[in-house]
Amino acid sequence: MTTALRALSPRGRLSFDAPLGPRAWFRTGGNAEALFVPKDGQDLAETLAALPQGTPVTLLGACSNVIIRDGGIDGLVIRMAGGFADIVIEADGLIAGAAALDMIVAEQAANAGLAGLEFLAGIPGSIGGAVVMNAGAYGSDINAVLDWAEILLPDGTISKLSNQTLAFTYRHATLPEGAIVLRARLKAHQGDAAAIRAHIAEIKAAREASQPVRARTGGSTFRNPEGHKAWQLIDEAGCRGLTRGGAQVSEKHCNFLLNLGEATSSDLEALGDEVRQRVLDHSGIALHWEIKRLGNAS
Ligand SMILES: Cc1cc2nc3c(=O)[nH]c(=O)nc-3n(C[C@H](O)[C@H](O)[C@H](O)COP(=O)(O)OP(=O)(O)OC[C@H]3O[C@@H](n4cnc5c(N)ncnc54)[C@H](O)[C@@H]3O)c2cc1C
Repeated sequence: MTTALRALSPRGRLSFDAPLGPRAWFRTGGNAEALFVPKDGQDLAETLAALPQGTPVTLLGACSNVIIRDGGIDGLVIRMAGGFADIVIEADGLIAGAAALDMIVAEQAANAGLAGLEFLAGIPGSIGGAVVMNAGAYGSDINAVLDWAEILLPDGTISKLSNQTLAFTYRHATLPEGAIVLRARLKAHQGDAAAIRAHIAEIKAAREASQPVRARTGGSTFRNPEGHKAWQLIDEAGCRGLTRGGAQVSEKHCNFLLNLGEATSSDLEALGDEVRQRVLDHSGIALHWEIKRLGNAS
C-alpha cells in the first residue's frame, strides 16, 4: 500500500511510517503508515479523491480520546491541524474549524461576550472530536449547542448536517460512513464577558480538583451505563489504583487510565479489559469503552 500512497502529492504534509505516540495524550502507540496533515479543505478533498480504492482512512483530532495501538495504523491517517482551526464569531454563536481546540473556542467566545460554551473550557480535544464524541461536561454537551456541522464525504461531497440529523446520544453522533467533520456552528447568547470568564475559571478549578488533567491519560475510559456512574462501579469492584505493566487506574478518578511513564497501548487496553471483567463479575454490569481504540495490536 505504501507505494501507492507515495504517489500522492498533496499541498499539505505527508510523511511515512510516522510516529503517532508523541501526538496522543497517552503518549503511547505505533506509527501511521502514512500521516497526512491537509493544508485546507480542497487539499483534503483532492487527496481523498486520489487515494487508491480501499485505502483505510483514519481521522485524528487532538488524540485526547484515543488509544493508538502499538502496531500502528494502516493506510492514510489524517490529522486535522492548523488549516482547519479558524474561529468566526457571530452575534449569536460562532463557527469553529474541526481543529480548533475546545478550550480556545471557549476562551474566544468569552472574549466576545458569548455565553453558553463555557463547558468546552474543560475538554482537551478539538471541535471535530467534540462533534463525533458529543463531548460534554458540567451539564452541557455538543448536542445542546450545535446548530450544524459541515462534513466531507469520501466521494468529495460537502454537506451541512443539522443537529437533528446528527441524532446525538450520550458521547455519540450519528455520522455517515467515512464522514470528516470540517467545521461546526455552535449557538451561544450574549452575556457579560467577566462573568463568562469567571465561570470558565470555576470549571477549570473543579476539573483540576477531580481529574488527573496533567497526566498521560485519555479522559473517561468507559461510558456511564444507564443509571450508573462508571467510576463508581470501577471503585466498588476494587479497581482504584489497579496496575498492569506501566498502566494504572487513576487513584484520583477511577474512570481514567494513566500511563505512568513506560506503559504501552497494550498495557492500557489489557488493564481496561481487566477492569471491565472485574466490574462485570462484581456488579453484573457490562462497561463499554468510550475511548476509541485505533489500529493494530503489535
Ligand atoms: C484529561 C481529559 C479530560 C477529558 N474530559 C472530557 C469531558 O469532560 N467530557 C468529554 O466529553 N470528553 C472528555 N475527554 C475526552 C476527549 O477530550 C473528548 O472526547 C474530545 O471530544 C475528543 O476530541 P479529540 O479532538 O481529541 O478527538 P480524538 O481523540 O483525536 O478522536 C476521537 C474520535 O473522533 C474522531 N475524529 C476526530 N476528529 C474528527 C474529524 N474532524 N472528523 C471525523 N472524525 C474525527 C476520531 O477518528 C476518533 O474516532 C477528556 C480527555 C482527557 C484526556
